Amino acid sequence: MNRRQLLVALGLGAVAATTDTPTSANAHALVGLEQGNLSGDISMLTRQPSGYVYVRDSIVYRLPRSRKRRMAWTVDDGTSVTMINNYVNWVKQHNLRLTFFVYSDMHGWRTLAAKIRPLVATGQIQIANHTARHPDLTKLSTHQIQKELWDCHKFIVKHYGVDARPYFRPPYGAVNHHVVKAAAAIGYTKPIMWSGTLADATRISTTGIWNNVRQYMGNEVIMLAHANNTQTAHLFARILRRIRSKRLALVTLQDALSPRPKPPSVLHATVSGTSVSLTWSTVTNAQFYEVVYWESGIRKTLTVASRVHTFTGLIPGRQYQFRVASSVFGVKSGLSAGSNFVKIASPTPQPSPSAPEPNPSIT
Ligand SMILES: [Zn+2]
Repeated sequence: MNRRQLLVALGLGAVAATTDTPTSANAHALVGLEQGNLSGDISMLTRQPSGYVYVRDSIVYRLPRSRKRRMAWTVDDGTSVTMINNYVNWVKQHNLRLTFFVYSDMHGWRTLAAKIRPLVATGQIQIANHTARHPDLTKLSTHQIQKELWDCHKFIVKHYGVDARPYFRPPYGAVNHHVVKAAAAIGYTKPIMWSGTLADATRISTTGIWNNVRQYMGNEVIMLAHANNTQTAHLFARILRRIRSKRLALVTLQDALSPRPKPPSVLHATVSGTSVSLTWSTVTNAQFYEVVYWESGIRKTLTVASRVHTFTGLIPGRQYQFRVASSVFGVKSGLSAGSNFVKIASPTPQPSPSAPEPNPSIT
């Protein structure tokens, strides 16, 4: 069975057969696939989905249904620094949302990190894991699979300050039970495939890319694009017009698959003098927390990076209650339930120097 037949058998058909083709640097990695030597258990992928399926065996192919028409634009690899930069400018200029699948050995992800980071903080750009060296994961041991993901993970934490979990895309879309299990064991529980592709991993004509845009763009589609050459940038304006004419909102995977983070649960507030120490539970991937409380009728908020904070100099005689919200990839949760009420003790009354002393001389 050749790669194309294999992919057709997997139900991915022509979409996957022409996508995520390797860059010259790792062309050798595909040889095994092309010869049909796909190792591991692929039976899970040969099962036909029944009806509308966006996720099967934890592998995500499309966006879940929603009342809002939406599409996830995903960009892989980054062998071209210029093209990564083109995408970042496109996002900034038109206030778009997209997901980068970072192949962390490509130096553009390091050189452009300072420019991309603010867009990651607002949630406009999501950074996801596409491994450190872009191998066919189905050919690797559990340890090697985890190392590929973890090396990329550490790169993302270091340069972008975020935890990319649970989202990863296996290079070439090569995935099996073994890969899914090995990745899930280190928190990468959402392997992301695609349901539309520009087939622009290697250089193709802009006409070819445009035909793919027309064929695949639509509601609930996860579109696969690459930052490996600059061809697609010539079509940015046309692509945007088409997105708008089809009334599609661009969303990140985070937007569509984990819409709103949970608020933390506030554990406890303890008072000591005029200070209150507040602790709450960790929310996965939270970059910061916002603590809200009222003082003298004024709503006060405070942004905190950790899950504990000590308030000092609170007003004696007053009662306080605190609520906390989490912020995950620029998306804020609702407020937690309130903490226990704590009261700052009034100072114990000292004998006042101005108080009249009993005067025994007055008789
Ligand atoms: Zn790739």
